[in-house]
This record gives sequence, structure tokens and C-alpha cells, in this order.
Amino acid sequence: MRFSHTISLSIFCLLVTISTVRSVPPQPPVRCDQTGCTVSSAYGTWPDRKTCKAANITYPTTEEELRKAVAYASERNLKVKTVTKFSHTIPKLACPSGSDAMLISTSKYNSVIEIEPDRLTVTADSGVSLRELIDKVEAAGFSIGTSPYWEGVSIGGLISTGSHGSSWSGRGGSVHDHVVGISLVVPANSSERYAKVIRLEEGRDDKLLNAVKVSLGVLGVISKVKLSIEKAFKRSITYNFTSDVALEEIFMEHGKRFEFGDITWYPSRKTAVYRYDVRSPVNVSGNGVNDFIGFQSNPILISKGVRALEKSLEASKSESGKCTTADTTLAYKKLTGNGLKNNGLLFTGYPVIGNQGKIQTSGSCLYSSSFRIDVSCSWDPRYNGLFFYETTAIFPLPRFRDFILDVKKLRDMKPERLCGIDIYNGILIRFIKGSKAYLGQGEDSVVIDFNYYRADDALTPRLNQDVMEEMEQMTFLKYGAKPHWGKNRKVGFFGVKQKYGPNFDKFLEVKNKLDPKMMFSSEWSDEILFGREGLKYDGCALEGNCVCSEDRHCSPSKGYFCRQGLVYTQARVCRFSSAKVSMA
Ligand SMILES: Cc1cc2nc3c(=O)[nH]c(=O)nc-3n(C[C@H](O)[C@H](O)[C@H](O)COP(=O)(O)OP(=O)(O)OC[C@H]3O[C@@H](n4cnc5c(N)ncnc54)[C@H](O)[C@@H]3O)c2cc1C
Repeated sequence: MRFSHTISLSIFCLLVTISTVRSVPPQPPVRCDQTGCTVSSAYGTWPDRKTCKAANITYPTTEEELRKAVAYASERNLKVKTVTKFSHTIPKLACPSGSDAMLISTSKYNSVIEIEPDRLTVTADSGVSLRELIDKVEAAGFSIGTSPYWEGVSIGGLISTGSHGSSWSGRGGSVHDHVVGISLVVPANSSERYAKVIRLEEGRDDKLLNAVKVSLGVLGVISKVKLSIEKAFKRSITYNFTSDVALEEIFMEHGKRFEFGDITWYPSRKTAVYRYDVRSPVNVSGNGVNDFIGFQSNPILISKGVRALEKSLEASKSESGKCTTADTTLAYKKLTGNGLKNNGLLFTGYPVIGNQGKIQTSGSCLYSSSFRIDVSCSWDPRYNGLFFYETTAIFPLPRFRDFILDVKKLRDMKPERLCGIDIYNGILIRFIKGSKAYLGQGEDSVVIDFNYYRADDALTPRLNQDVMEEMEQMTFLKYGAKPHWGKNRKVGFFGVKQKYGPNFDKFLEVKNKLDPKMMFSSEWSDEILFGREGLKYDGCALEGNCVCSEDRHCSPSKGYFCRQGLVYTQARVCRFSSAKVSMA
């Protein structure tokens, strides 16, 4: 209880001050000097905490320059990696192989967006940002059916990892299922000037298109993406903050009934937030905006303060402190409609109705203002703000109910242990439709995301980390969920190849055909794509680089030992034991 006032005050200050300010933009992900280039993720730290080097970088602005860049590398047998303006992938997918590799950035390849009203398509250069694309399409009287909830991504980067929103309707919630054409630059032989552009169309080149749609950057450089669009529409959203009783019975009906519905589950708070989100005609009044709280600008001092507070709660193993934080955050989300703004400025009540383009995605912390240099995205690595892991798992629909029941069992043993998840965004539950993409989901699925504290150094264990590890292993091992390619810790990818069955081999067949010299592959993309486990080392389970099988994979000196899961007993997790510490 000692912490509760301080926490409430700090969190309240954070939440109140984030209002409508714009902020310091994120730093560019690639920095070069005389010794070469360093590629960072937007979070500043890759999963293995090691830097990622390349020899040099090129910034094509046209498709021909892009082709020449690939030709240059192909002729010289260089390894290549495509990087974007954003680098919002969490695993090391954007990291090239070896420090003599070449980077091709799409950050300046973003000038062309062509709408074909009669065909209901838009074609964009792959470096175009999601926000630019949406705004252009909406200005022409159309809408893009789905998108990830975060707009700090490029169109080439977001489809490459299978990014999605939430929908079981129409073409579904995954952006790659709205793709009807792709131009891809691939290596070629000398008679073809070492690189060529291949143009793929839905219905004509499905075998290749199904591979390229979600291809983790390992098939070549996507030059252009053609998406299916629709006549402009609006959306109407209401959040219902309520009990999580019968969540396991309700979720399916919810996904079917609300075209863009989702559910945010705060298990420790026994609360589910049902998002009733449906399409409205464009002539219904409403200029609402979705400015999701988690993606708004935060005063840098407050982000630092919240991180410092979280660290102190970790150090003192204060479950009650974390639960107070979770309560305050949840109450604030309820008060502010989670960042929905009826008139673009304030939340005044439900439903919030707005254009699809203003509702489908958000990220106001991305944008700069010349007069506010004291605010940024809360995780901006320059300011020691929030630092966390993200687990994102995609469940075959029939298995999701039992997962909810398992988490409830785990929660009911001691709800406080899940507060560490609920101070972030609980468990976000979204719906995506079956896809033909080889590395997409073959069947209608349910996606969950949850975030949790990451320590400043790799060998510091975390409060209740066993519970989060058990949930992680339940998802990927017990229920066979697939990892989101652009998120997750290394353990999420173990055995991923088998989960895709014959489609994985179809993908590899195309990979061998388009990039036989594996120019676009690296040890990092192999680690993710093939889900290899690698050698275990002392402390490897702490950062999700292994599943522990011996105590030394946890942190015996700090009282964390390898133990079986509480509900999923096959799980092997690092659990704290005070008795053992005092005996040591
Ligand atoms: C705060 C936050 C919120 C997020 N929310 C969501 C969400 O709601 N839903 C969701 O599904 N995901 C979400 N993500 C994940 C994000 O959508 C993906 O990581 C996405 O791939 C990032 O796109 P990017 O443009 O930053 O690409 P990068 O991270 O730069 O690149 C990703 C991969 O794509 C490759 N690549 C990029 N461009 C090309 C190209 N032109 N040709 C070939 N390969 C290319 C890169 O080599 C790399 O392998 C979120 C991430 C963050 C940080």
C-alpha cells in the first residue's frame, strides 16, 4: 500500500498530460559513419541486445534505382537487407547478415500512390507510410478495409510480417489479404542485368503472390503494393468495460457480430473491454478520431518516471504496487474512452463515429512539432522510458476457448500475479480470417498480444516472470499458436516450421526460385523462419532465448529456479523461491 498514492499520482499525471500534444519524432533506425552503418529497432534494443551492422546503405527513390541497387549487390554477391523509415519489427528481421552487407532503404521510395477508382485499387511505392496511404485513399473518397492498429509502418514492411487489425468479415483483418498485386525486385543473371522486376497479380500469379505477400523480406525487395479498396465508410465504436465472466463463451459471437470488434482482457482485474465496432454509412454524422492512449505522446519526464516506478516495483517485488498501477490505468482508459475523441479533441461519450481512416489506426506520438521537444513515444529509447516484451500469438479458432480457461485457472490461483500484464494493455484479442498466404493463417484465427516488463540488463529476472513464461509456452506449445512474424521473443518461433505444414515448403520453393543465392537471408531471418532453438546458456530463459531445463538457465543466484508450470505442467519456467534464496 505504501506505493499506492505515489503510483496513482504518477500514472494520473502521465495520463492527463498526454492529451493532444505532438512530439519529438522517433530517431531514424539506421545511422552511418566512416566505419559503417548500425540498424536499430524502434525500441532501440534487439531481442539479443546486440547491435546490428552493415557496410553501407542506399536510398533509391524510383523503381529503376531500386532495381539497380539489387543488381549492384547481386553482381558482387553481397548480402542485402531492406530497411524502412520505421523499423518497427521487434525480432531481428531487419538485420542483415555480416557487417559487409548492404542495406536498401525504402524511406525515400515513397512518392507514388495511384488510385484506380474503377478497379477499386490503390498502388503505392513500398516505402509509403500507412498514414500517407490512408489519407490519400480517403481524400479520393475510398477506404482501406483493414490495417494494423499502429500507423508507424510502411506498406512494404507491414505486409512483410503479416500485420493485421481485427476482422473476420470481407477480406478479413490481415492487410496481405487485401493485396491484389505486388511488384518485387529480385536478383537475376548477367543477361538480365543482375536484377529484374517481377509483377504479380491476384488470379494470375497466385503461387508466387501467396509467397510474396508475407515474406519477411527474404524473397527480394517489394517495390509496389496494390491493395483492394472500397467506397469510403465510417465506423461506430463503443467500448463496454465489463466483467470477464463467460469471456470464453462470448468471444466467438463477438468476433462474428462486430465487423471490427476486438476484446481487451485484463485478467487480474477480472475485466473485459468489448469493442463494439461496426461500419456506418459515410453520411452518418461524426468526425471521431481514434487516438489510442498507448500511442499518444508522453512527456519524456513522465515516461522516465513511470519506468523508474516500474523498476522500483520490480526491485521490491511489489505485486500490490503493480495492481494499483493496473487499476489506475484501467480507470483512466475508461474515463477517456481509451483515446477515442468524438470531435477530434475530446471524448464526450459513445458511440464515437468517424471515418475509417481516422479510426482504423493511430500513432500521434510519431509526429513532430517545432515547439514541443519534451514529449515522445513512451518507448523512445533515447529517453529511458518504457521497455517491455511483446508476445503475439495466433490461435486456431477451435483452441482459443481452452486457452482462456487455462489463463483463468492460472489467474484464480493468485490474480495479483497478472497485474504486470494489465499495467500495459492486458491481453488484446483480435480476429483474423483464413488466408491463402503461405506464411499467413490457413484458417480463421484469434490473435492475442500482451506486453510485460523487460529489465535493463539481460540477467535480471522479473517479478512473476514464471506466469508470463507459462502463458507464453501455453500459447505456442500447448495450443500450437503461431507467432506473429514481426513480434515475439525467440521462444515464440521454436518449431514454427512444423506449424505451417506443407505451406512452409511451398514458401521455401518460391524462396529458392527467387533468391537462389540467399542474398536476402541472414542468420537472423533463418532463426525466425526456421525456429531453431540454438545452444542454451546460463540465464537464457530470462530473455526468452530458451525454455529452461536446468536451474542455470534461470538465475539461481537471484532465487529463480527452473520449475514446472502451475496449470500447464509441461511448461518449464523460471520461478522465484524466497526459501531457496535464504538458504543460499
Ligand atoms: C507500437 C507497435 C504497434 C504495432 N501494432 C501492430 C498491430 O496492431 N498489428 C500488427 O499486426 N502488427 C503491429 N505491429 C508490428 C508491425 O506492424 C510490424 O513489425 C511491421 O512489419 C513493421 O513495419 P515497418 O515498416 O516498420 O517494417 P520494418 O520493421 O522496417 O521491416 C519489417 C520486415 O519487412 C522487411 N521489409 C520492409 N520493407 C520491405 C520491402 N519493401 N520489401 C521487402 N521486405 C521489406 C524488412 O526487411 C523486415 O524483414 C506493431 C509494432 C509496434 C512497434
